[in-house]
Amino acid sequence: MAIAAGISDRHLRGAEGLADKPLHLAQRVRITMNAVWASSRAGQLLASCLVNLLTRQVGLVSEIEILIPPVTTVIRLANGDFTDGPLEQSLVRIAAWAVNDRVKVYASRAPAMDADITITVGDSASAGKGITLFAAGNGWKAWVGAPEHAPKGIAPDKSNPLGPFLAAALVAGEVFKRGRGLVRGRFLTANGYSLWTGQQSTGWDDLQDGPALTGGQLKPLHIIGAGAVGNGLAYILAYAELADAYAAIIDDDAYDTTSLNRCLLAGHGDVGDPKVEAIETSLKKHDVGIYGFEGTISRYLTAPRTGLRSDLARQASDLAFDLVVSCVDRGGSRQDIQGLAPSSLFGGSTLRLVARSDFYPDRPGAACLSCFNPPEQDGEKLRALEKKLRELSEAQRSVLLREQGIDPAAIEAYLASPKCGTLGEAALLDLATRSPGEFSVGFVSLGAAILLASKLFRQVLFGSPTDGGDVTVLNFLNGGLQNSFLGADDHCHWGCQERRRRISVPCDVCA
Ligand SMILES: [Zn+2]
Repeated sequence: MAIAAGISDRHLRGAEGLADKPLHLAQRVRITMNAVWASSRAGQLLASCLVNLLTRQVGLVSEIEILIPPVTTVIRLANGDFTDGPLEQSLVRIAAWAVNDRVKVYASRAPAMDADITITVGDSASAGKGITLFAAGNGWKAWVGAPEHAPKGIAPDKSNPLGPFLAAALVAGEVFKRGRGLVRGRFLTANGYSLWTGQQSTGWDDLQDGPALTGGQLKPLHIIGAGAVGNGLAYILAYAELADAYAAIIDDDAYDTTSLNRCLLAGHGDVGDPKVEAIETSLKKHDVGIYGFEGTISRYLTAPRTGLRSDLARQASDLAFDLVVSCVDRGGSRQDIQGLAPSSLFGGSTLRLVARSDFYPDRPGAACLSCFNPPEQDGEKLRALEKKLRELSEAQRSVLLREQGIDPAAIEAYLASPKCGTLGEAALLDLATRSPGEFSVGFVSLGAAILLASKLFRQVLFGSPTDGGDVTVLNFLNGGLQNSFLGADDHCHWGCQERRRRISVPCDVCA
C-alpha cells in the first residue's frame, strides 16, 4: 500500500531550524580524494557512504562529479556487490542502484563543471570556485570543516567504518543545510569527534581513538525495526569485520519510494518489498550472519522462525532475551520491546535533525524504553476514521481510499458489517495509524545508527563503561554532541521503577 510520493518527500518537509523554502535546489557537488586516501579502506568507506547519502538527497543535489585517481575498489558496495574494478566506477554504480540515477554521478579526470560545493576527503586540495569542505574519518574519529582549519597528514590506516561513516554523514549534512537553508544552528568550520570517548575538538591529534573492531566477538542480537536506523545499523555491521556477528532483524513493514531518502541498504528495486529483505541480502553478501523476520514482535514470538540460529531461537522460545536493539519509531512498538525485558537494551532514534542513541540500564531511577513513549491510542484513531468515512458518500470514500492505495471493497464490507480481524478492519487500522510522514533524512538516520553502534560496541564488545551518560545526542543543526542521563518517567506504562523496587527487595527466603 505504498503512497505515491517521491524520494524527496520527507527531506523537503518543514523542520525546526530550516528555512521554509529550500534555498538552493539542484546543487552540483564534486568529491575529490588523493591516491593515498582513494586506495585506502577508510577513504573508500567514507567516499562510498558519502555518495550513498548524497544521491538520496534528490531535489537538493542534482549531480556529483567524482574526481579521484584510478585506484582499485577494495570494499563491497552497500548492497553487497563486489567488483575489483576502478573505485570511480563503483561509486557511479551506487546512484544507479540507490535511486535509478535520479542524481547524476560521473567520474572525471579533470573538473568538468562549476561545482557549488567541493568536498575534499582526507587531504586538502586547492580550493576552486564555490564552497570547499574538508572531511576525514579514520578509526573512531571524524573531522569536518573548512579546508583552512583542516588537520594535515592524517593517515587512513584503520578499517573501522564508524569514523569514515560519521565524517560522511556530517559532510552530507553540510550539503543538505546549504540546500535547505538554515534559520538556526551553524555550518561546521572545525568539528572533530571521537566516537570512542564522546569528545569534541577543533583539532585531530587530541581526539582519542579506540580499539579495532576487526575480529571482535559480539554476542548475537535481536534488532527490532528495519527502517532507516535499522538500515544504518546493518550498514555498519556489514563493514565492521566482526568475527562471528549474527543478528535477527524483525519488521513487518515494506519500503515505499519515500524510504529511499534514508534507508541506506535499500535501492529503488526494493520498493514494495519487505524491509528486512534488502538488509538480509546485503549482509549475507558481506558474510554477516543475518535472519530476517517479516512480521511484528508478537508474531515473532509465536511463529515457527524457520532457519533462525538456535541460540537466538532459544531466547525467543524461553522469553529470555539477552541483547536487544530498538530501531523502531512508534510508542506502541517501544512498549512491546520493553515488554521483552531483555538483559541489555539499546536504542537509536531521530527527531528532525537530531540523532540519538540510548542505553537503558537496569538501575533504580533510570529511564526504560517504555518511559516517555506511551502507546498510541490506536483504537480511538480507528473509531475517528470510521466515523469520518461514514459521513462520506460511497463514491467519495472510494476516491479517498484509492488515493491512499487501499481497496475500497474491503472497507465497504467492513462498514456494512464491522467485524474484528477482517481485512477491512486491518486496512482501516493501517490507514488510521499511518504516520503522517514527518521530516526525515538519511544522514540523521545514519548518525543515530553510528551513535547506537558506538555505544553497543563500546559496552558489549569492550566492556567500556558509559561514564559520559546513557543518552548520546548529535544535533546536525550545529554539530553539538552531548551525553546525559535520563531519569525514569513517573507515569511509565511498563512501571519500571515499581518492577525494579520489587526485584531489588530480597524475599523472605533470600533474606
Ligand atoms: Zn520506564
